[in-house]
Amino acid sequence: MSIRIINTEVCQNCKKETCAFIDRVTKIDSVFASEGTVCPTGALQANPSQQNPFTKKECIDCGLCVGYCNKSNLEIENEANKFNFEYCNSFGMNALVSNYLNKIFPFAANSNRNSSVLFDGYVEIGEEKEAFVEVDEKDALECLRNLLGDFLLYRGQYANEVNTGLIVLTEIPPRGSSNVYTVIERMRMFPNLESKNIYITTFSMLKYLFLHPKNDSVVFENVFYNPLKETIEEYTERITKETGVCFSNLK
Ligand code: SF4
Ligand code: SF4
Repeated sequence: MSIRIINTEVCQNCKKETCAFIDRVTKIDSVFASEGTVCPTGALQANPSQQNPFTKKECIDCGLCVGYCNKSNLEIENEANKFNFEYCNSFGMNALVSNYLNKIFPFAANSNRNSSVLFDGYVEIGEEKEAFVEVDEKDALECLRNLLGDFLLYRGQYANEVNTGLIVLTEIPPRGSSNVYTVIERMRMFPNLESKNIYITTFSMLKYLFLHPKNDSVVFENVFYNPLKETIEEYTERITKETGVCFSNLK
């Protein structure tokens, strides 16, 4: 995938530069603010017409700047779902995920930006429902452990009880390869965890949802994988049918 500026003059006359800076939104009933900058690696730090950021090795083709440009002046060529995270550290990954989620859903924050709370992200998913987000390139079990800790530690601290958790990984772990699924199945036997729902998704899926906005609002429960409700095969078949994109193993 590569990104190009459609009309350099449009960029030169652009006053807002929303490809680089987001109008921060702070939730009144919480301490969280949306991310203030767009690019998770620092490849793009200002108006791209002054210095082409897309040729830099730090550009990981995440597409955030494309989706946030207020003049639709950036274009993706050869859209691909793969990521190169060589130049994106864990802080960048949290920022990337929160900026995707903040466009897909009504509000999302990179809540662990200053390490002030334990969870990596927070997202409002509509109908007064919220979710904690945990992000890791590969370690699903670590994300799950963190989510369970988030649920227990922050019980009763938000206006609505947070009953949903989202794990974001490079790949959905195959069944049998990880005991993350065993823990999710047993989780509901424990007090205070019986009503919790864990969903899994990938950076690629978030990128797709971000770059292909729908007219109607996205239903959280429909687009992410709930291992208690369906198999990975059923999920990928359903998502492929809905999006028309073959997300084989969702990498
Ligand atoms: S890419 Fe879009 S938002 Fe950024 S400077 Fe150009 S026109 Fe403005
Ligand atoms: S595609 Fe992503 S990494 Fe590349 S310049 Fe845009 S925001 Fe930065």
